[in-house]
Amino acid sequence: MKKQNLLIKYGLPEDVRFCKKCTVSNQRPRITFDESGVCSACNFAEYKRNKVDWNERERELIDLCDRYRKSNGEYDVIVPCSGGKDGSFVAHQLKYKYGMNPLTVTWAPLKPTEIGRRNLDSFIDSGFDNILGKPNGVVTRRLTKLSLVHLGDPFQPFIYGQANFPMHMALKYNVSLIMYGENGEVEYGGDMTNAYRPDRDIQDHDKQYFSGMPPEFWEEYGISQADLKPFKSPSFDKLMENETKIHFMGHYKFWDPQENFYYCTENTGFKINPERSSGTYSKYASLDDQFDGFHYYLGFIKFGIGRTTSDSAHEIRDGKITREEGVALVRRYDDEFPKKYLQEFLQYCDISEEELTEVIDSWRSDHLWEQKAGVWCLKKPIWAED
Ligand SMILES: [Zn+2]
Repeated sequence: MKKQNLLIKYGLPEDVRFCKKCTVSNQRPRITFDESGVCSACNFAEYKRNKVDWNERERELIDLCDRYRKSNGEYDVIVPCSGGKDGSFVAHQLKYKYGMNPLTVTWAPLKPTEIGRRNLDSFIDSGFDNILGKPNGVVTRRLTKLSLVHLGDPFQPFIYGQANFPMHMALKYNVSLIMYGENGEVEYGGDMTNAYRPDRDIQDHDKQYFSGMPPEFWEEYGISQADLKPFKSPSFDKLMENETKIHFMGHYKFWDPQENFYYCTENTGFKINPERSSGTYSKYASLDDQFDGFHYYLGFIKFGIGRTTSDSAHEIRDGKITREEGVALVRRYDDEFPKKYLQEFLQYCDISEEELTEVIDSWRSDHLWEQKAGVWCLKKPIWAED
């Protein structure tokens, strides 16, 4: 299998550097570091803590709700929500604190977990209308395999739907406002273009979420236009006509995933996983899909940034753990292979274990990986920093 060139594909710096404050490295696509070696996400966390007047931001939110509230029985805001802690927090606050009438929309996981499904049901039971979008299983499986091989990420078809389904529903129900949780690019490191505004341009989708490969890309691989339709964005003209706006709750409310978790435990019946998720120490984030372990594991292979790195980096920024604790956790869990759902994943993608290993190895860049006595090792892990 042809080796992928990640330096070119993602414009990664060849020299691996870690943030001085958290555990993330400069290999995270689109992240930037300042002259003192601190990442954009850590600087943004400082800004959130020290510079933002959150009372003022809440007034902005109340203004926004006043502008969009319909009070005629129609939905007035679309909230993308899997039943997880973040979307549930947003929907619950908008409905019960700010008097909105949200329609919550869920793009189905590739393969739902029991706990994920239960959390979605409890969320709906706590007082919300919900529409579940579930695309053709054959097409989704083919797209999952194609993305695994050609993008090094089996989650791409899910990401298409997650980004585009809420816009389809916004058009269908004549709702102009879509409220997401946090702006991941800004909170976790990435493109800072939208850091200081409450919304983002719909055009940014392609660049930030689709790695420059929108659903149309797969026509070349024999997926028909009709089969790709549920994954595609609605037409730009229609979105403009509907005056569709995408806002982030993280702009209006201090965004703290752990606090969202406590909030949803109390208000939407959210339950944590009894066991930690593979590749990390955490039990409360990203619980919905049996295959998300493969998404995170491939991220670890491609960028040296596994699930523990991501979890610990934001928990350090949120003041929940120290950098030293974060580094120890990364060392312990970051490289863990998601073996729990391996058989289901192989079957789903119609791929053998040997083929999967070949695909994984094709995404190991020489600037990150070397073999020592037949075992793949990171050349510069965070615990061996100079
Ligand atoms: Zn940092």
